[in-house]
Amino acid sequence: MKRSEAVFVFVMTLLAFGLSASGQQTTVTSLPPASSVAATSQPGTVPGLRFETIASGIHLIWTPRHEAKVVVAEFSTFVALIEAPFDDRTVRDILAELRARFPKKPLRYALHSHHHDHSINAVDPLLVAGAQIVTSGYNLDQLLTATADEALLRSRVVLVDDRFEIADQTNRLRVWLLKQGRGENQWLVPTAEYMVFDFPDQQVLVSGCMYNKPLTYHEVVNQRKPSLLKFIESHGLKVRTIVPTNTSSAGGFEDVCTMQMLQDTLEQGIKPEEVSKRFGAMTAIEMRDRLDAIVEEFKTKTPRSFDLMVCSSQLLRDGFPDHSIVLLDAAIKLFPSDPWPAFESGVRLWELGRTPEAEERWKTALALAKDSNEREDMERTIGEKRVMVK
Ligand SMILES: [Zn+2]
Repeated sequence: MKRSEAVFVFVMTLLAFGLSASGQQTTVTSLPPASSVAATSQPGTVPGLRFETIASGIHLIWTPRHEAKVVVAEFSTFVALIEAPFDDRTVRDILAELRARFPKKPLRYALHSHHHDHSINAVDPLLVAGAQIVTSGYNLDQLLTATADEALLRSRVVLVDDRFEIADQTNRLRVWLLKQGRGENQWLVPTAEYMVFDFPDQQVLVSGCMYNKPLTYHEVVNQRKPSLLKFIESHGLKVRTIVPTNTSSAGGFEDVCTMQMLQDTLEQGIKPEEVSKRFGAMTAIEMRDRLDAIVEEFKTKTPRSFDLMVCSSQLLRDGFPDHSIVLLDAAIKLFPSDPWPAFESGVRLWELGRTPEAEERWKTALALAKDSNEREDMERTIGEKRVMVK
């Protein structure tokens, strides 16, 4: 079937079942490389940025900060940008890179997965560049707080309620809106509304912060990872490559993941439900008696406190707050220079009314903070907790 140039399709009703059942005809025009994207990336035209083409019509730009990169979808007469992280300066640099790389192709669309600052935080430079902002109702409410020109933003918004597609004869980009929840057609996404993007011809999925793969091991299986796989499978998406936008190899993560990596992570990563069930079967005192053994056990399984903190949250959700604090104590012992287990432990202890212990933990966390930004983040939350109790 011949596609006319720039066909924009709003699909207001749920066509997902028809799409997966009918087996869409996708022609694989180019297969992305399976790995080594970082090794071949080249300096950007703008100092500090890096640029890489990973498949026909799909490019990555790395920002100077390790916690974000963006995806450029190239069409015959324009480009679309997925993600606009952090601040005006970062976004203006990305826009300058786009102008240098694609001088004859204006930025027509800016899309973003959700409202975290590694996804979008500075909307005005995009408006100045003339882009339409592809977002959802919930996320628009967040964007309205970040713009100096509310009327202009409202006039440039493309609101996605379910699906949206941007296509011409050279490329096809599909936008899928995922709503948070445990019901039918709801997903365990990080924010109330969340968009993922796929390029069906190149079999590339842009997943925002739904899945990250550290270079040397498999991260904990938090809820969003199996939910992402379920979404891909239930919609019959053909995916070979997954692009996380909130991590990079400079920060110790794969720049570009494969579908196989996601499947391996779900098999090999620490599973919080299993950890919670095992520790929940003993008393918190018994668990504390085994603290050294627990530290030894996790030492072989993960090099980062994050995995234990996710398991600790699961214990809390399962009704074991005292156990969750013991597991955070294991994380404090295992990662003595990491402030976050102590900070989180302070939050839990405060919520349990164990105020002096909470203050002690926060004191430790603040002393370990790596810079003033991290310290201010902690102080803000601590301040909110103190106010809430009064
Ligand atoms: Zn995020």
